[in-house]
Amino acid sequence: GTTCRAVAERAVFNSRVLMLLGQLERLNREAMLADAEIGRQITAKILHLIQTQEKTRKEIMSKGSSGMEVILATLEVSGGRRVGVFVSKGGTGILLQLVLSGSKESPPSEELMLQLHSLLAKVGPKDRKFGVKARLNGALNVTVNLLKQNLQNHKLLLPCLQVLRVYSSNSVNAVSLGKNGVLELMFKIIGPYSKKNTSLLKVSLDTLGALLKSKTNARRAVDRAHVPVLLYIYQDWHRNDTRHRHMLIRKGVLGCLKNITNIKLGRKAFIDADGMRILYNTSTECLPVRTLDPLINTSSLIMRKCFPKNRLPLPTIKSVFHHQLPHVPAGGPVAQLYNQPLGVDDVVDESDDNDDVETENDTENEEEDKDHHARNDDIETDINKLRPKETNSRPFEELKIYERFFLELSEDFQSGVTATPAAPKSQRPIIVPTAQALPPKYPTAAPLQEECHLAKGEQPHPEASPLAPAPTPAPVHTLDTINITKDHDGCCDHSQVRPQQPPLLAGGVAARQGGGAEETLAEEWAEEEGGEGAVLEVPDTALLLPLHDPDLYVEMVKSTRSVPQYSEVAYPDYFGHVAPTFREHILERVYGVQRTKIFQDIERLIHPNDILDKVVYDLDIQSCPVIDDGESLKFNSQFESGNLRKAIQARKFEYDLVLNSDINSNHYHQWFYFEVSGMRVGAPYRFNIINCEKSNSQFNYGMQVLMYSVQEAISGRPRWVRTGTDICYYKNHFSRSSIAAGGQKGKSYYTMTFSMTFNHKDDVCYFAYHYPYTYSTLKMHLQKLEALRTPQIYMRQDILCETLGGNSCPLLTITAMPESTSNDQICQFRNRPLVFLSSRVHPGETNASWVMKGTLEFLMGSSPLAHSLREAYIFKIVPMLNPDGVVNGNHRCSLSGEDLNRQWQSPSPELHPTIYHTKSLLQYLAAIQRAPLVFCDYHGHSRKKNVFMYGCSLKETVWQTNISATSCELHEDLGYRTLPKILSQTAPAFSMASCSFVVERSKEATARVVVWREIGVQRSYTMESTLCGCDQGKYKGLQIGTRELEEMGAQFCVALLRLKRLTSPLELRNHAHLLDVESDLIETRCKVSRSDTCTHRGYYSKQELTLEIYTETIIFECETN
Ligand SMILES: [Zn+2]
Repeated sequence: GTTCRAVAERAVFNSRVLMLLGQLERLNREAMLADAEIGRQITAKILHLIQTQEKTRKEIMSKGSSGMEVILATLEVSGGRRVGVFVSKGGTGILLQLVLSGSKESPPSEELMLQLHSLLAKVGPKDRKFGVKARLNGALNVTVNLLKQNLQNHKLLLPCLQVLRVYSSNSVNAVSLGKNGVLELMFKIIGPYSKKNTSLLKVSLDTLGALLKSKTNARRAVDRAHVPVLLYIYQDWHRNDTRHRHMLIRKGVLGCLKNITNIKLGRKAFIDADGMRILYNTSTECLPVRTLDPLINTSSLIMRKCFPKNRLPLPTIKSVFHHQLPHVPAGGPVAQLYNQPLGVDDVVDESDDNDDVETENDTENEEEDKDHHARNDDIETDINKLRPKETNSRPFEELKIYERFFLELSEDFQSGVTATPAAPKSQRPIIVPTAQALPPKYPTAAPLQEECHLAKGEQPHPEASPLAPAPTPAPVHTLDTINITKDHDGCCDHSQVRPQQPPLLAGGVAARQGGGAEETLAEEWAEEEGGEGAVLEVPDTALLLPLHDPDLYVEMVKSTRSVPQYSEVAYPDYFGHVAPTFREHILERVYGVQRTKIFQDIERLIHPNDILDKVVYDLDIQSCPVIDDGESLKFNSQFESGNLRKAIQARKFEYDLVLNSDINSNHYHQWFYFEVSGMRVGAPYRFNIINCEKSNSQFNYGMQVLMYSVQEAISGRPRWVRTGTDICYYKNHFSRSSIAAGGQKGKSYYTMTFSMTFNHKDDVCYFAYHYPYTYSTLKMHLQKLEALRTPQIYMRQDILCETLGGNSCPLLTITAMPESTSNDQICQFRNRPLVFLSSRVHPGETNASWVMKGTLEFLMGSSPLAHSLREAYIFKIVPMLNPDGVVNGNHRCSLSGEDLNRQWQSPSPELHPTIYHTKSLLQYLAAIQRAPLVFCDYHGHSRKKNVFMYGCSLKETVWQTNISATSCELHEDLGYRTLPKILSQTAPAFSMASCSFVVERSKEATARVVVWREIGVQRSYTMESTLCGCDQGKYKGLQIGTRELEEMGAQFCVALLRLKRLTSPLELRNHAHLLDVESDLIETRCKVSRSDTCTHRGYYSKQELTLEIYTETIIFECETN
């Protein structure tokens, strides 16, 4: 009975299956008309049947049934979609089981195996679990054995190899296949050039490539000497495949080499087999054929990886300059640096032994995405860290000493000292009383010179203190560096750092001053010299640069303290910079530029005889020698803000440049500023800065370096111009010690390269990362600004404190004088809201100083807007938070070796005096209920375009991280969006789209976040200006210049005036006036839907709302009152 029933059932099944197969076959015949949906349904039914009926399955699949062929054909007809159905219905599993059961028949049916593998080859790539399923079903070995037994049977070989290729993409499978001898099997199939069986070869190479991703397999391949074999095969195909019909085979060979060289042994084998030369030569031959680019790119990738790792040509990566700290911080990188045992080689370490070479893309620029993700991970999720900090801060008694920086808050103007808020000035810096026994003051090294020129009320009379001529005025032959002579009191015994240089270009200076004596002197010198080139005409820029004065600049330099005790002045800072009137476009990247540069680097290995390797500049050698043999460029960086540690002439016209790390640090190489002379006109120079650290740079996106030509300057064009061609930025072969890479091993430095030709003979040129702006320049500008004061302007300069390096940190107060001394007016004067601005905490972000210059010049201006602005606010400005860093050519840190913008939570009065005292000023203001309306710290941004702001919003932060629960209860004033919004309307470089109001964890100790959280300033910002250029607005496609930066600073002021009108205390902010707009406003950015039960209410003044509506066209309902 049961047997009968079973037989009967099977018959039913079989007939159903046959019927379905028949349908399928018909569909296939009418392929073009076939309805895909019907095909899908039929396939699904067949699968269901063979899945549930073991015997049915067998019958269909074997015994000469045509079922398999039908299914195969079906899959072929419409490709992907039906395969997808097949996979989703469990088809793969069934096929794999069939393979296994089929293999148990002896001998296995070749026909069946062929069919099954053909089918698997189609299905496998669509099934993400295919590798695992195959392993669990035991199909791996079946396929391998089949291969081994049928190496000559090409018909069967191909589908089996195709399946094997899919198996191998699973890493566990790869290892197990390797153990089973599959590598050797592949090497039996692949071989030198042959027109036969190219598809077999291609699949084998792909399989081999997949297998070699496993380190075990890569090692096995190296052990069996397969690397030279692969190189031989590659060369053979390269030679014979002249019509490039088999590019994919050639790429397949390279793919294998690429994976083998991921391990150190593989790289060694590659080098030993002369791989560099082979790939270099073949690539060079491929260059003219654009379609072979994939081969060149992969070759380039392999060569870069195998290029022997070098150490930086330095004795240590610690800064070449040393500054002893008053005390070493307990922990952190500076402590590490100090605790590093003597004699430790910090340039390289064991990192080279690491086998894990980061997998790189073939594309030229990576990493963009990474940054984005990192940023999302960084968002603060601890709500308590987003709420205002309970300030148990400091007793008022302690803060009271800051009262004297706020004279305007108590000034009564009755004491007859009318109109001019005097020259109180020159206050001694604050000494902080501490509980500890008075520590020795930081080494301010005694008042050697006049305390601070900038604190003087009067403008200096040029003739009163002209540049004192050098003791031994020597004739000047060419344009050399200006040396300054400091006061004659003997304190400046270092005034002749480079005695081999003519000491002073007094001729030029005197000529400009036009005073009788000096002029004569200059003429005499000129005559003595007997040539006209001797007199250096200082370009007359007085009209164009009202804040610049070369003589005053030199005066300012005299009181600037640098760790290396610089005594030279760089020409650009002395002459000044007049922004060019022509447009400087963001460069379009030349196709293949990076590849070309990398090939030039590789040529150093291929043609070692071309390499000079001549050190032409080296600060690590005492009294840095200057080689002047006419064969090399001369370099110099020994002036304020200069940064270049070493220059090596690599080839005739190519120089490797090494930057100095920040003082008391072993990294932060980005800022550079140096002088070049001795150039040949028209020669194609290439410069490589070889120890850059960031993983990407705007130099890859059209930014150029800045160059200043002294010959141009004395011809009436004193200016920095964007220069350089073939600019790119890429990872190089100099290994980066884990000591300097935050413990990460196996890191490399990056090269920033640019090429250029010089136009003038006997020129002195300067190169900089961005428009330099020295501390002495600031002091000069401040003195000039003070001279702009009118009786209507209240302006005061105080010294906030002294820095570790003994420089003064200026603090400015700017507002309008009261209109009269009436009570009302005095009251209005004192009660103006405060605006607190700061800048240049990061020395390398010189653009921040140019923006600040724009702000200051506007504030001191005579326009009606400037006047209204002064009447509206009291401005407190710290224009340079990090003078020492600026003076000493640091990129990021102060002399303490720390990023000062990460110290705001608990600044040390000794190690971070400028931050400590600036924060104290703000704490004082908070304590007297006068916290500023706006706080803004100006910065520069090296990776983004445009100008934009970072602000702080609790809600936007919370919404970004989806901590949904609590967000509804949070009330937040939306005023923080107003200022950036105004700026986006008024300032052409400003982009609202780049702004962010999210609080990141990594930023919790920055000025912006601390001032927001601890001082309670809602409108607390960082304003970031691009170092590169704009991709929107009026300046779209242009690189940024000082004119645009200064304009930004002025526009910031205008925006503050508009903010004032919108938030005017006369237009009383109506708190009952609750408006449901904030969520709409923010949701447009955050794309976070809010729950309907929540009521988000923002406190807006009517005007602010009008603005929002104007800009965002938000529709909202407004309760009128
Ligand atoms: Zn910054």
